This record gives sequence, C-alpha cells and structure tokens, in this order.
Amino acid sequence: MGKPTILILGAGYAGITTAMMLQKKLDKLDATITLINKHAYHYQTTWLHEYAVGTLSDHQMKIPIESIIDTDRIHFIVDTVTNLKTEEHQVSLKKNGNIIYDYLVVALGFETATFDIPGINDFAYVINSVDKADVLRREMEDRLSSYNKKEVNQPFTIVVGGGGFTGVEYLGELTDQLPSLLEKYKLNEHDVKLLVIEQEQSVMPGFDLELGEYAMQMLENKGVSFYLGAAVKSVHADYIVVEKNGLTEEISTSIFIWTAGVRANQLIEQSDIQHRNGSVEVTDDLLAPSNDKVFVVGDCTTVRLSDSNQIVSPTAQLAIQQAKTCAKNIEKLIKGKSNELIPFMYREHGLIASLGKNDAIGVLFNNKKVFGKEAVFLKRINENRVLHQIGGIPLLWKRKK
Ligand SMILES: Cc1cc2nc3c(=O)[nH]c(=O)nc-3n(C[C@H](O)[C@H](O)[C@H](O)COP(=O)(O)OP(=O)(O)OC[C@H]3O[C@@H](n4cnc5c(N)ncnc54)[C@H](O)[C@@H]3O)c2cc1C
Repeated sequence: MGKPTILILGAGYAGITTAMMLQKKLDKLDATITLINKHAYHYQTTWLHEYAVGTLSDHQMKIPIESIIDTDRIHFIVDTVTNLKTEEHQVSLKKNGNIIYDYLVVALGFETATFDIPGINDFAYVINSVDKADVLRREMEDRLSSYNKKEVNQPFTIVVGGGGFTGVEYLGELTDQLPSLLEKYKLNEHDVKLLVIEQEQSVMPGFDLELGEYAMQMLENKGVSFYLGAAVKSVHADYIVVEKNGLTEEISTSIFIWTAGVRANQLIEQSDIQHRNGSVEVTDDLLAPSNDKVFVVGDCTTVRLSDSNQIVSPTAQLAIQQAKTCAKNIEKLIKGKSNELIPFMYREHGLIASLGKNDAIGVLFNNKKVFGKEAVFLKRINENRVLHQIGGIPLLWKRKK
C-alpha cells in the first residue's frame, strides 16, 4: 500500500492550523498532505471589518499561503471545492476535477445566513470574505462620491442589519474612518446617518448585557442610532421593510449591510456528510458521524459543552483548538494508533469585540469583564498570538498589530 493521502479543504484558521501541525508531526514518508483553498492567500477573518472600511490594506490582509507552509511537505492547490462525496472518498474541484483521499479534513468555514429574507442576496452587502469586504468598501466610497444631498433631500443612510459581533465591530471601525471619508467627499457629519436594526432589545445578544449596553453607548456617542426589537423583513434597492410590534414600515437606505447571521458552508448540506441544519455535530474525536476518515473542524461544526450540552459559539479560537486536536488524531491514525484518539476539550479563553481603534469590550476566561484600552490591548495580544501560532515569528513580525 502506498502512502496515505490527507486532504485539507479550506485554509482559514482551522485548515491552516491543521496543515501547519501535520507538517510538523508527520514525516515526508508518512503521508502526502494536500491543502486546497479558494485563494492563494490566507486571511484573518477576525480582521475583515477593518478591511471592509479600508483600515487594513490588501497587503496587510492577504497572507500568501506558500509563504507560511513548507511547500516540500504540503502540496498546495488553489481551487474551489464544488462537491464532497465521502462514500467514494472523493472531492470535486472547479478546475482540477476529482481528487481521492484517505483522510479528509473539512475546514470550509462559514457563509452568511439570509434566513430566506427576500432581497438580501440581491441588495445587501456582507462581510464574510476578503472579496465581499472589498466590494462593500468600494461600493460605500462609490455611493458616497455620487451622493448629492440637494437631489436626494435626505441624509446618506447607512443601515446595518444585525447588532451582533460583526455589526458592532464594523460600526466601531466605520465611525473611526468616517471623518476622513466625509472630508474626501466634501460632506459634513449631518449628511450621513448610521442606523442599526436589531431584533433583540440590546446589541450583541448572547454576550454580557452590561458590555452590550457599553457598546451601544459608545457607538451612540459616535453618531450611531439603534432601532431595537425590530426585524428586517425584506431588502430592496433603496429601502428595507422592517417589522416591530406587528407593524411594518419602510426605512430608506443609501447602502444596507447584512451582518445578522452565519451558517456553515453550504457544501456540507449538499454533501453526503451527516448534518443537522447544515452543520456537523462531530464526534468527540472531531470525526463526522459514522465516518472514520472524515474530520470536520471550525465553523462547519456544532460543538456542545460536555457538562451543559450548550452550543459553543463558532469562533476563531474554537476553530484553532479543534484543528490542533484534529492534527493529533490524524497523526495517531496514520501511525496505526486508532484506539488512542484524543477527545476534543474546548477551553474558553474569553472573547473581545473591538469598537474601533481605541475601544473594545470583552469577557476573559475567568469571566472578568474588560472595557476600553485594556480590552484593546488584550485583543491585540490575542491577534498577535494567533499570527504566531499560524506562521511563527516571521509572520508575526511582518503582520503584527
Ligand atoms: C468581522 C468578523 C469578526 C470576527 N471576530 C472574531 C473575534 O474577535 N474572535 C473570534 O474568535 N472569532 C471572530 N469571528 C469569527 C471567526 O472569524 C470564525 O469563527 C473563524 O473564521 C472560523 O474559522 P474557519 O477556519 O472555520 O473558517 P474561515 O476562517 O471562514 O476559513 C474558511 C476558508 O475556507 C475557504 N473556502 C470556503 N469555501 C471554499 C471552497 N468552496 N473551496 C475552497 N476553499 C473554500 C475560505 O476562502 C477560507 O479561507 C469573527 C468573524 C467575522 C466575520
């Protein structure tokens, strides 16, 4: 029998970490490792809101994958996965046809959830990839540059659907950049209106209430208004329909950004991998149910806490932790130790959301709440630690914040 082949799909946090760990753990003679990703670069998804308003450049955002992996150990293919047939051990690619594997790691990340709201796919802008964040940044500038207040007779209205993590981080960043955008397009602050539509009674639902209120206060100080308890019902070219307390109304939009939901990559739902609502409830070893060759990691999975059965929010830290266990388990399988697979144990390290360059909020691993400069500092440390984990000192040195 020849060397086993390991195929890793996606080079986000989960995929690139699995690949980097396997390249260290396995000898060239042990297995062939192939990594497949849509783009030639890896990006820090947690920085997308900064890229979407132009705080980060292309150069800062796009990390060439071949600059961080050992290309002698990992065969890297730039291509888009179009289908998964695990019964046949086969993955289909857009340009390169079908590939057969012995072990598969599915790390294809998330997509925007639209909840079947009419018009989102046609008229809303989203922040779910470098390409989409780039489209939003360009469109915002295009629309600001062509805005003529005398003609329109109403402010340039930026509406964000969803006051969760992404919506709040985006607005924190946008309000930091707004003064220079206004200056560039010869507008004043009264010409622009910023509005968040949030279904719950506070922003960042599920997060600490006090921190959510702090975020709202800080964003209000920077000119953002909140429409709470209101749900987006449909999206159109220059307005949205919103429902609150059973009544519907139209709200004009100069640009509408949808940040209200994520779901696992749709390829999961379209594949023969067992899933629930499109997401894979992996076994303790991170294998897909009833499958001893297919691992699933990152935002394509649903993970529950062993003590409370509560679902763990999909985050970068969860993806990285899973990837480390996944790599250890693949090493065990390759080395014939299938009875020694390690169960995945999630460790909460806390979560921090930025509110622009100089402010942030978060909860640490010991449940301590942090605000302001302290939270900004801790978020930077965490971001730099992730860079170090992925690409060692060279990557940290080049891209550190
Ligand atoms: C604006 C924003 C801010 C966030 N902030 C935080 C934070 O502060 N802390 C935190 O822990 N989490 C945060 N998150 C969540 C976090 O980014 C995700 O949980 C994390 O990216 C999941 O990692 P992943 O590897 O599963 O997926 P991803 O990072 O999405 O990686 C998936 C990879 O697969 C590739 N891919 C997708 N489809 C295909 C295909 N068909 N073929 C080939 N390749 C494909 C993609 O190009 C990508 O490289 C944030 C998310 C956003 C959007």
